[in-house]
Amino acid sequence: MSVESSLRADIVEVGRRLYARAYTASNDGNISVRLGGNRLLMTPKSVCKGFMTPDMMCVTDLDGRKLEGERDPSTEMLMHLEVYRQRADVQAVVHAHPPIATGFAVAGIPLNRAVLAEVLTTLGSIPIAEYATPSTQELPDAVAKYIKAHDGMLLANHGALTVGSDLFSAYYKMETIEHFAKISLVARLLGRENLIAREEVERLQGLRGTYGIKAPAPICADEPATDAAAVCQVVEAPPGGGQRLVPDVAVTGGGDPAARDSGDGEIRLTYRELSALIEDAIRSLR
Ligand SMILES: [Zn+2]
Repeated sequence: MSVESSLRADIVEVGRRLYARAYTASNDGNISVRLGGNRLLMTPKSVCKGFMTPDMMCVTDLDGRKLEGERDPSTEMLMHLEVYRQRADVQAVVHAHPPIATGFAVAGIPLNRAVLAEVLTTLGSIPIAEYATPSTQELPDAVAKYIKAHDGMLLANHGALTVGSDLFSAYYKMETIEHFAKISLVARLLGRENLIAREEVERLQGLRGTYGIKAPAPICADEPATDAAAVCQVVEAPPGGGQRLVPDVAVTGGGDPAARDSGDGEIRLTYRELSALIEDAIRSLR
């Protein structure tokens, strides 16, 4: 099998997995890989990624001109082209709408907290690229801000994007993002997140080489500059002061039940209790 035939088969397989895992619905999502000679192999527009065949793919050049294929390339081709222009090391790009990660993208909550060691070593932080109208130049412009320093990102009110040194590595990063989003959601529903301390994050960063992981950029120092996202990965990790896990003060009131009951933490009221309090306050105003 030639390299190109095997890449066509790989795109079909990755599309099938994206659809089987409900990371895409209907015709959502798109996939591309580099072929030699400044050419790209890309999924066509308006097909379900779960039911593609190898002959459906388009071959384009790096400016998006179609060189081969009966169908037109993906409507998100501009975003893929931007990634390949900026990242000579990237061999493949995957875009999908995994529902839990996309929920974070809709809520405007980046997946940038130091919570899981394997996410810190592989992806680092997962920022949110600004909202952009799909299929327009706005989307590559939004992605451009983060793609130099990140292998994965959320797209505000849209989905997620991952890149890799081969197609399966880009696909696995999509799995990692959705898995991380699921775990983060459960931890937040349970009401607390213990964060990995800054010192431990630095230690994990040092282990990237040992694991053979090539991260696109280091994790930013303690107080990153506002435009840091282009050169380093912003990770929320508090200083540990000797502890490797730190209760998240913002969410849990220090993780100490006494502190939570002291008035600084969360309170829960029923609708009836809240209404009574408001009525009381209005009465005392009169
Ligand atoms: Zn999309």
